[in-house]
Amino acid sequence: MAKYTGPVCRLCRREGCKLFLKGDRCFSEKCGLNKHPNAPGMHGAGRKKPSPYSIQLREKQKAKRIYGLTEKQFHKYYTMAEKMRGNTGENMLILIERRLDNVIYRMGVGVSRAQARQIVNHGHVTVNGKRVNIPSYLIKADDVVAIKESKQSNTLFTELKESKLGKGVAWLEFDNAQLSGKIVRLPVRDDIDMAIAEHMIVELYSK
Ligand code: SF4
Repeated sequence: MAKYTGPVCRLCRREGCKLFLKGDRCFSEKCGLNKHPNAPGMHGAGRKKPSPYSIQLREKQKAKRIYGLTEKQFHKYYTMAEKMRGNTGENMLILIERRLDNVIYRMGVGVSRAQARQIVNHGHVTVNGKRVNIPSYLIKADDVVAIKESKQSNTLFTELKESKLGKGVAWLEFDNAQLSGKIVRLPVRDDIDMAIAEHMIVELYSK
């Protein structure tokens, strides 16, 4: 399915919870869910009891939307995780968490994952000193992710030098002056602070 380009608050309303797709607005009174808490559409307020399939589907859609992935991209991580040792659901989430755009978001450089992805796409990011403009690039332990030196004077980044980078991310070590983050270890499931029931996604895909 093609990338969704409509109003993002509608996605939160559909999932019935905050997906944090709009940066600071998500933490303010202006959050779309405050104004319109019901699911979108004519029958949004009066939906009947969901079936087990629909619960699993919604869980998958929620995770996909939090990370801003298409179905094809999301399913690719499931296929990769299936071939790995351990818990498939957890491995899938960890793989997604290792995406470069997500690391930039976790560093606090982008206010949302969409903005972080744009920063990567525009070639502002380096990994171990080399420019990488692929948002799906998977970081490894000991990698150093940074904002390209020649781009650090950009107003988007100058303010960041004064603020503290990162949002309490245990697997990243930050250097504010260099606008960089070192991957001290790969993330584990407990580092992923979103309420996603990954076992339901595995159940859905393994049908
Ligand atoms: Fe979702 Fe953020 Fe919009 Fe609130 S403001 S509905 S959390 S995208």
